[in-house]
Amino acid sequence: MLARMQPEDRLEPRLAEVGLEIADITHVVNTHLHPDHCGGNFLFPNAELIVQREHYQEALAHPEIPDGLFHRPELHYRLLDGDEQLFSGVRAIVAPGHARGLQALLVSLPHSGRILIAGDAIDTAGGLQEVASAEADGPKVAGYRCSGEVGRQTRPS
Ligand SMILES: [Zn+2]
Repeated sequence: MLARMQPEDRLEPRLAEVGLEIADITHVVNTHLHPDHCGGNFLFPNAELIVQREHYQEALAHPEIPDGLFHRPELHYRLLDGDEQLFSGVRAIVAPGHARGLQALLVSLPHSGRILIAGDAIDTAGGLQEVASAEADGPKVAGYRCSGEVGRQTRPS
């Protein structure tokens, strides 16, 4: 599956739709640091980037994740050690499987209720089915399907 992006899908135009620009962003939460999730981190040298410490360390050691995408001196990371309430209504939840230390976000919105942003932990309808099957098999970490080569190599065996 490849994303089809149009020029108006780039970050700057999408932020402009809600009256913001990149300089207005103070916090960025990376669910994990696979290249398709951290390739834009360089845009945020003035923001706090939030990721799980376990995953950051794994990404540094991973031969297929270029350090230059995320491990840059001008970037400022807040490394988490497990679940944490980040802001009012936003909780980081460790959701390993696709990658060690991947985190999901549980967002509580006043009108919509609670929404789980699972990232690649559940990246397709088939992935959701695998989660359901793993739950039925017992308490273990599911080897979720991955849409990318990096993820296939980081999921547990
Ligand atoms: Zn991934």
